[in-house]
Amino acid sequence: MMVFSMPALKSVVLRTMNEGEFDLIRRLFKHAGGSRKAFTRVGIGDDASVHRPPAGMDLVVSSDSSVQDAHWPDDFPLDQAADRAICSALSDLAAMGAEPVCAWLNVMANDNHAVESMGAGSTRALKRYDVELAGGDTCRSATNAISVTVAGQLPEGSAMRRDTALAEDDIWLAGRAGFHALGLQQWLNDMKDGDFVPCFETITPQLATGIQLRKAGVACCIDISDGLLQDAGHIATASGIGMDIEITSLPDWHVLCQAVGDAQALQLMAHGGEDYALLFTAPAGIYFPDGLAVCIGHCREGSGVILRMHGETTNVEKAGFDHFG
Ligand code: ADP
Ligand code: MG
Repeated sequence: MMVFSMPALKSVVLRTMNEGEFDLIRRLFKHAGGSRKAFTRVGIGDDASVHRPPAGMDLVVSSDSSVQDAHWPDDFPLDQAADRAICSALSDLAAMGAEPVCAWLNVMANDNHAVESMGAGSTRALKRYDVELAGGDTCRSATNAISVTVAGQLPEGSAMRRDTALAEDDIWLAGRAGFHALGLQQWLNDMKDGDFVPCFETITPQLATGIQLRKAGVACCIDISDGLLQDAGHIATASGIGMDIEITSLPDWHVLCQAVGDAQALQLMAHGGEDYALLFTAPAGIYFPDGLAVCIGHCREGSGVILRMHGETTNVEKAGFDHFG
């Protein structure tokens, strides 16, 4: 992309770096990512990519930005940060029940080395989930950042949403909550070998689970990116219902309690984001196997989310993550 810059603002595009912008793009991104999909008619190399979803399928699209020092610590490896950025975007497709197809990647980098690292990490993640890289942008920036757009597909009208929970539904969780936050705490406290650090280093989007839930007829689902309490609140508000959640029913509650005590475990599970578990609701009487999900509460008439510990209402104060809060 051409950039019109003031004379003092030299080298805005990567063309001015050791290796030019277009060579870098060709080398790092042209054949990166997963296999070419029939969905894509024109891929990387033109002004835009061109796609045609199969008849009877809906296209599901999500976009996410990750910025150094806001979404990952300064001393976290850039390739791993890019891997996480892809996985966090794919988690949005999992929450909708979509099968991922393509990604578009905007890389904003300090220098060539940063482009190289972010290219390597994102390629690794895209190959792992066989997601085609269909385009993007690469530019120099004062802050390293990566912006990912992902597209997936699912049968027309079958997307799981936030606004479809019913007051009679049970609340289920596929995956854990609170473990990423504890891993991040350890990383920031210079315990880089801490037991929970791996929970922060990598993200596993629950794509297969999302598709399985959608096929089982689940209508309401969200991925937990900003904390259980906050994300459950999104379902409650969008669906116009209330929710009661028993925190001790969450998977591996006792593991967190043993590590940090009950009070801290409650805070971590209520507010810790980025574990990317799938929180969903289903009519009472429908059961999912333990290996897939556990029942953690019930919807009700009314509004708001009540968190209980051994049946008693808790008073968790701090809200989930909010960039501008
Ligand atoms: P334009 O100037 O037409 O916007 P660019 O010069 O920015 O195009 O990019 C050339 C081609 O390379 C485009 O097809 C674009 O989608 C692709 N591209 C650029 N950067 C990336 C990236 N980080 N990941 C994937 N594709 C990229
Ligand atoms: Mg163009």
